Amino acid sequence: MTAKNALFLKPPLSGAGARNVVRDFLYGCWCNGRRIGGMQMPPLTELTACTHARQDGVEPVFLDALVEPERFQALIDTRFEGFFAVAVMSSTQSFRQDVETLERVKALNPGIKAILFGSHPTFMPEYCLQETVVDYLVLREPEDTLRELLGALTRGEPVDELAGLALRHPDGSARINEHRAFVTMDNLPIPDRTLLPAGADYFNPVVKRLPYTTMQTSRGCPARCNYCTAPTFYGNKTRVRSAEKVLEEMREIKRLGYREIFFRDETFSAYKGRNFKIFEGMAAEGMDFSWIANARVDMIDEDSMRAMKKAGCHMLKFGVETGSDEMLVTYKKGTTTDQARWAFAKAREVGLDTHAHIIFGGPGESLDTIRQTIAFVKEIRPSTVTFGILTPYPGTEIFDMVAEKQPEILDGSGSNMENLHTSGFFNESLCGLSGDELSRQIVRAYREFYVRPGYLLERLSKIRSFEELMISLVAGANVMQFALTGRK
Ligand code: SF4
Repeated sequence: MTAKNALFLKPPLSGAGARNVVRDFLYGCWCNGRRIGGMQMPPLTELTACTHARQDGVEPVFLDALVEPERFQALIDTRFEGFFAVAVMSSTQSFRQDVETLERVKALNPGIKAILFGSHPTFMPEYCLQETVVDYLVLREPEDTLRELLGALTRGEPVDELAGLALRHPDGSARINEHRAFVTMDNLPIPDRTLLPAGADYFNPVVKRLPYTTMQTSRGCPARCNYCTAPTFYGNKTRVRSAEKVLEEMREIKRLGYREIFFRDETFSAYKGRNFKIFEGMAAEGMDFSWIANARVDMIDEDSMRAMKKAGCHMLKFGVETGSDEMLVTYKKGTTTDQARWAFAKAREVGLDTHAHIIFGGPGESLDTIRQTIAFVKEIRPSTVTFGILTPYPGTEIFDMVAEKQPEILDGSGSNMENLHTSGFFNESLCGLSGDELSRQIVRAYREFYVRPGYLLERLSKIRSFEELMISLVAGANVMQFALTGRK
């Protein structure tokens, strides 16, 4: 090992559900965190940044310490010898534990530079720089800034002026440099998935075929939901990768033996023309992937659904959020319950499974709107649903609303990661319902939706393989435990 190694570390986390935490800022805010169904996402943003950082003089090493604790322990045993920097993608919920990990690393190797990137450093740089263990913050998209920073550090060049970087002035105050221009998506490398732990078992309850991987073929979202970090993080713009580049990555994924893809684009369905070119290419090359993508109920049509189904899609995930049209307006969602009714009915007709994301606890929520939402979800009949309590995330309008009323929220990193989205965090200032009440309603919603003989029979009738059966049993056991006992 040379002295030019940079460690891209997905740090260890303690507590139940640690492996279910998603640090990505993708999907906006409320999808971060533990999933009742047991979902684990393979790292993607970290992997892309790590791949992009490779250059003359820098040899990045990737480590998911949650999946490879022995490898992490080996680095501790050798005091991180040979590394000049450690880069960690930090989310609001993982921030405090990430800082503890960096303190541990620096106690063993004081010369190593500690770098944070991701949503929390981007939206809360002053707070992050109060932690003296942190040397540099990379703001917004990490790839180009990290690459330049690591290159400059190895060459001993000054970095203080680098665009996209934040650091401390000599007097300890925060220095926040100008933002960097957003990357052109086709200029990003194909993430090197061979850096992932060999044979790692990233479980996902809605995936049909393992092993599965994730892809990001666009960044940003045309919508502006006020609880979501994605629009702001990406400068209220959307960018797509070309069909050619997407197909190139799919060829690589196929070569590596993956059988299913989870497209993690915020709104994959928004790019119909580009997507049709991808589907044509897949058909021409005989690519046999099953896949899942995110869609909005107002940004998809029947043609798209049919083309998606033909190209191997088996599930569309929609942010339904609520069964109240008034609350959809409050959330600035830009959709209506009628559009959701249409999208779920059409997907069912076309033969696509659907997943509905639901939020409780936003502005104006009441027990009546919660009852209305549960009834609405049963009416539109998604294949699966997740109910989560709204968490105010830095970088969103909702966070600013809460912070104005309750400045004690500080940087928002005090929420309980283990109970994220199943316990309330400052929701009382939004809607008057207590955290305990919202937690009870979440359990009730899971029970009312999932513990129904008709639902269970329908799910069982759709299972087509032993592999699907096994995945469904694990996910079903997790969901049932929560629905019946409130414990995860
Ligand atoms: S639709 Fe709304 S919640 Fe989903 S990614 Fe776009 S802005 Fe965020």
